[in-house]
Amino acid sequence: TTRKLIVSEKLATIGEITAAAAHEINNPVAVLQGNLDLLREIIGPHAAGAATEFRLMDEQIQRISQIVNRLLQFARPEEYAGWAARTDPRDAVADCLPLVRHLLSRSGVTLRQDGQVGRQVLMNRTELQQVLVNLIVNAIHAMPAGGEIVVTLSDADEGGTPGVRIAVADQGVGMDAATLSRIFEPFFTTRAGSGGTGLGLSICRTLVERQGGRIDAAGSPGRGTTFTLWLPAAL
Ligand code: ADP
Repeated sequence: TTRKLIVSEKLATIGEITAAAAHEINNPVAVLQGNLDLLREIIGPHAAGAATEFRLMDEQIQRISQIVNRLLQFARPEEYAGWAARTDPRDAVADCLPLVRHLLSRSGVTLRQDGQVGRQVLMNRTELQQVLVNLIVNAIHAMPAGGEIVVTLSDADEGGTPGVRIAVADQGVGMDAATLSRIFEPFFTTRAGSGGTGLGLSICRTLVERQGGRIDAAGSPGRGTTFTLWLPAAL
C-alpha cells in the first residue's frame, strides 16, 4: 500500500545517508587509532602511567568501528563484503531493479537498458548501485504521469583514460538552467514539500568524484533530463 511504499522509500534514503556517513567516519577513525598507537610508542616508558587512559581510548575507538560496521551492514546488507572496487556496470544496474520495482510500477514508469559495455568500472558495486538508484528514483519523481527511463551503457574514453559512460535519461518535467546549475549542492531541493532532502545528488557526486569520475546533467523544461556518469575503467 502507499503508506508502506512511502516507508520503504524513506528507509532507502536513510540507508543511503547512513552508508555515506558511516563510510566517511571510517577514515578519521583509522587515523585516530594509528596516532594513538604512535603516541604510545613516543612516550614509551611513560605509557604505563597512563595505561587506563590508553585502554579507554582503545576501547572507545573499537566501539566506534563496530558501530560503523554495523551501520554499513544495515545499509548495505547483501553487498557489504569488503570493498572490492571493481564492478561490471551491468551488475550494478541489475542490483537497482529490486529496489525501484515497486516505485516504477506505482508510477507507470518503465526502465529499459541500452548500449553495450565490455569494461568494468573502478567503483564499489554498492556505491555504484547507490548512485544509480538515486538517479532512477529522481527520474521517477520527474515523471508523475509515467514514461520511460533509458539507462545506456557504453565504453568511453575521456582525456585518454579508458572508462565507462552510463547515461540515465528520463522524459520528465526537466529543469531550467538556474535549477540545473544548483542540483549537486547539498540540501538543494525543489521537493522539500514531498520528502526531498537535497542530499541525493550531492552524495552521488562525492562518490563518483572520489573514484576519479564525473557526473553531470543536461535537459530543459518539458523535455526531460539526462544524467551522464563517467567512471574510469578498472584495468
Ligand atoms: P531530492 O531528490 O531530495 O530533492 P536530489 O539531490 O536527489 O535531492 O535532487 C535535487 C533536485 O534536483 C531535486 O529536488 C530536483 O529539483 C532536481 N532533479 C534531480 N533529478 C531530476 C530529474 N531527473 N528531473 C528533474 N529534476 C530533477
